[in-house]
Amino acid sequence: MSVYDRDNIFAKILRGEVPSFKVHEDDHTLAFLDIMPRTLGHTLVIPKAPARNLLDAPSDALSRTILAVQRVAKAAKIAFAADGVTLLQFSEQASGQVVFHLHFHVLPRYDGIPLLPPQTNMESNETLVPRAAKLRAAIANLGV
Ligand code: 5GP
Repeated sequence: MSVYDRDNIFAKILRGEVPSFKVHEDDHTLAFLDIMPRTLGHTLVIPKAPARNLLDAPSDALSRTILAVQRVAKAAKIAFAADGVTLLQFSEQASGQVVFHLHFHVLPRYDGIPLLPPQTNMESNETLVPRAAKLRAAIANLGV
């Protein structure tokens, strides 16, 4: 049976044991930049509640997370002047899931530009710091 591993990298980010480029946080969800972005502004949104993926997520955590996803998607489209937004969510290894804490990929999209393959390049801190600040500001500008 598939179980939740409390030592997965996103659980460590939630506990503050591993740094992340946070763009949004509330009592139930956290969003941070993907360190190997597949597109400009690639962001991950996760519940704070432990869930391996979509298949075992408690409904309350899931509904709060999808609302945070919408907020991040709206702000990312503005912050990074995107033409659209793709969402991706993988559940279990066969689907492509690599990190086993539920997460949604928010991927700003640009006309005619394909997504990079997963984990193509590790982005530098120098690039990610201002990018996170820009997205945080756009999220704040959405209001409550
Ligand atoms: P998935 O499990 O849906 O295939 O994707 C996991 C995602 O997590 C990948 O896009 C990968 O780049 C990202 N990732 C892996 N390790 C870290 C990390 O330590 N920090 C951040 N911010 N993203 C990570």
